[in-house]
Amino acid sequence: MNLILLGPPGAGKGTQASMICNDFNLTHISTGDLLRNETKSSSDLGKEIKSIVDAGNLVSNEIILRILKNFISKNNDASGFLFDGFPRNAEQAGLLDQLMHEINFKLNAVIMLDVDKELLLNRILKRKEDEGRADDNEKVLENRLRVYFEETQPLIEVYQNENLLIKIDGEGEISQVNQRINASLRSL
Ligand code: AMP
Repeated sequence: MNLILLGPPGAGKGTQASMICNDFNLTHISTGDLLRNETKSSSDLGKEIKSIVDAGNLVSNEIILRILKNFISKNNDASGFLFDGFPRNAEQAGLLDQLMHEINFKLNAVIMLDVDKELLLNRILKRKEDEGRADDNEKVLENRLRVYFEETQPLIEVYQNENLLIKIDGEGEISQVNQRINASLRSL
C-alpha cells in the first residue's frame, strides 16, 4: 500500500505518519525531515535549504525530487511508502505520479487531516517549546499556512476527483485520530 498524508502545518502529520507506518508496515518519507537532515551539513546546498525552510517557503521541486529519489533508492526493499509533506503543489503531484510509475507502485489513498486553523496555531506554538524548530514561530507560521492554502490545498480537489481522498477529522486525542485513520484504511 502507498499513501499520501496531506494537511496543514500542525495537523499532526508526523505523529500519525509514524503510527500508520507501524500498523501497515510502510516506509515513512517525510520531505521535511529529509530537508532538516540536509541542513545539518555545512555545504552550500545545506545552507541554501536552511534559509528557505527557516523562512517557511517551499524548496525547489528539483531539490525535492533529488532527495526523494535518493531516499527511495536506499529503501528499495520497502513494501510501500507513506509520503508525509509531499506533494505540496501541483507540479510535485505530477512528479509523484512519474516516480510511482518508475518503481511500478500504485497510489492507494490520500489521507487529508482536517484541523481548524486556530488549533493549528496553538499546536505549533506548543511544538516550538518542545522541539525548538526555527520555523515554528508565529511570523514564519503565517507564511507556511499561506503557502499551504495557496499551493497545497488545491491538491485536495485533484485527489478527490481521482477518488483517492479520505478526509479525516484531525481534532481530538492522537489515539482517536489514529483509530479514525485505521478504520478507513482497513475498509479500502
Ligand atoms: P514539514 O516538516 O513538512 O512541515 O516541512 C518543513 C519545511 O520543509 C517546509 O515549510 C518547507 O520549507 C520544506 N519542505 C518540506 N517538504 C517540502 C516539499 N515537498 N516541497 C518543498 N518544500 C518542502
